[in-house]
Amino acid sequence: MTLLRITPLAAVLAIALSACSGQQSPPPAEPVATPEATPAETAPAADAVDAAATAPVSGDCAFNLEGNDAMQFNAKEIVVPASCSEFTINLEHTGSMPVAAMGHNVVITKEADMGEVDKDGIAAGAASDYVKAGDDRVIAHSKMIGGGEKTSVTFDVSKIATGGPYGFFCSFPGHFAMMQGSIRVE
Ligand code: ZN
Repeated sequence: MTLLRITPLAAVLAIALSACSGQQSPPPAEPVATPEATPAETAPAADAVDAAATAPVSGDCAFNLEGNDAMQFNAKEIVVPASCSEFTINLEHTGSMPVAAMGHNVVITKEADMGEVDKDGIAAGAASDYVKAGDDRVIAHSKMIGGGEKTSVTFDVSKIATGGPYGFFCSFPGHFAMMQGSIRVE
């Protein structure tokens, strides 16, 4: 009859042993961390750098003007602070077409003179950057540039402080209608 008592005891011992050995077994492996998707991690930073490098930045007495392969300036208006004695327009051709096919410059005249100055410039030809030599209606102009090139032109702000309105345009043949804007002192 004692067997009936011993057997349950043995069973309890067995359970205790198995529980004990269970504690000694290594803990379950921690869930493997699934890496977050990272492909876009660097793209936004690169975009930000590009934007910073190409966005028009108007310093106190300078303006960064861009022309592209689609015959467009990136600005229709340039405001010159009255506190500046000189003002610089930095022109960058952000396209890739050559100067002979998609040249850009920036010419400043009174708005009323723009059309005639453009016509005379085209008649003057590529050798003179499509600006008639000695044209006293031209307040300032840059050289003609092609894709990937930069140039700049600096002029006395007093020349456009009164007697306006004044404008700027590209005198490459056929570009005048698309590539023009206003410039004023404020
Ligand atoms: Zn042009």
